[in-house]
Amino acid sequence: MKRAYNFNAGPAALPEWVLQEAQKSWMDFNNTGMSVMELSHRSKDYEGVHNEAKALLASLLSIPEDYEILFLQGGASLQFTMVPMNLLDNGQTGYYALTGVWAEKALKEAAKIGKTEIAASSKEDNYTYIPEAGDIQVPENAAYLHITSNNTIYGTQWQTFPTGLKVPVVADMSSDILSTPIDVKNFDIIYAGAQKNLGPSGVTVVIIKKDLIKKNPALPTMLSYETHASSNSLFNTPPTLAIYLLSLVLKWAENQGGLEAIATINNKKAETLYNVIDNSNGFYNGHAAKNSRSKMNVTFTLQSDELTKRFLEEAKQAGFVGLNGHRSIGGCRASIYNAVPLEHVEALAEFMKTFQQNA
Ligand SMILES: *Cc1c(COP(=O)(O)O)cnc(C)c1O
Repeated sequence: MKRAYNFNAGPAALPEWVLQEAQKSWMDFNNTGMSVMELSHRSKDYEGVHNEAKALLASLLSIPEDYEILFLQGGASLQFTMVPMNLLDNGQTGYYALTGVWAEKALKEAAKIGKTEIAASSKEDNYTYIPEAGDIQVPENAAYLHITSNNTIYGTQWQTFPTGLKVPVVADMSSDILSTPIDVKNFDIIYAGAQKNLGPSGVTVVIIKKDLIKKNPALPTMLSYETHASSNSLFNTPPTLAIYLLSLVLKWAENQGGLEAIATINNKKAETLYNVIDNSNGFYNGHAAKNSRSKMNVTFTLQSDELTKRFLEEAKQAGFVGLNGHRSIGGCRASIYNAVPLEHVEALAEFMKTFQQNA
């Protein structure tokens, strides 16, 4: 068996160890004679998995006691709706930093629910950079500031986050959660669809400060954070298999040495590809401004559409998967999430150099 060089943007590569562990328990989890998928979500065995995933996440991210961890469904996309539904309850305004397509989508959904404003934007420059965190101003009576920590499609990433604002900060961290240590205290809500850095699709992690969780009988039950917070995310049937795989990914992350160790490898991976781009004399052009470059999604084009197309074709033949840029910007994108091994990134770097030499 040969594993692919998987640079998919999401769903994305999973650690081999996780796949192997899951396979071991596929027919018989924990001597139950059943797979995790076949357990009742009210059983002790499943609850062990569920609570272990929460504990591992709390430990890896050093999540303080005054935050709740929720496992929801509907993807990050449903959070675009749930955030304003739960936070824009008394005519306040939600502020959005527009740094890419996902941020635009979050804003669009919020505008259906309440008042919104754009706090900062790099749209005019085709989302090539992240606005200066220090330049972001929001009035004290704003409901929140929403940011997208890593812009999966454009390959940009906040290098420092806004701090010291007097309003809650909400962050969509779908494509860089667990890639480096963060100070959870600087955020009031963090959410992430699992399928990039946390596991398979099907579960969405929400880390929310407890004082933002309020009972609001006017909200649809399933769309209220309070429903899920007060039931340990077991109000209805959770995506049990996805949460089990999440727990394995978190164990794997812990075994790697935690987020400091993971960040060191991620830095090396990103540097490997950006070095090829920067040393190519313009053969490869990075989309992102250097001070906004993502360590998760490396986006670039070649000198012509023709050459880009040939590059993608030859890369595919050489066993590299998922290098096509998002359909909204084209070009190439290498997604190098936590689970993508350094050796695979090095293989891609070699391929890029050889392609340039032979072009
Ligand atoms: C992938 C992605 C999303 C969409 O996630 P779904 O789980 O498919 O809804 C939203 N935001 C960001 C930053 C993403 O990378």
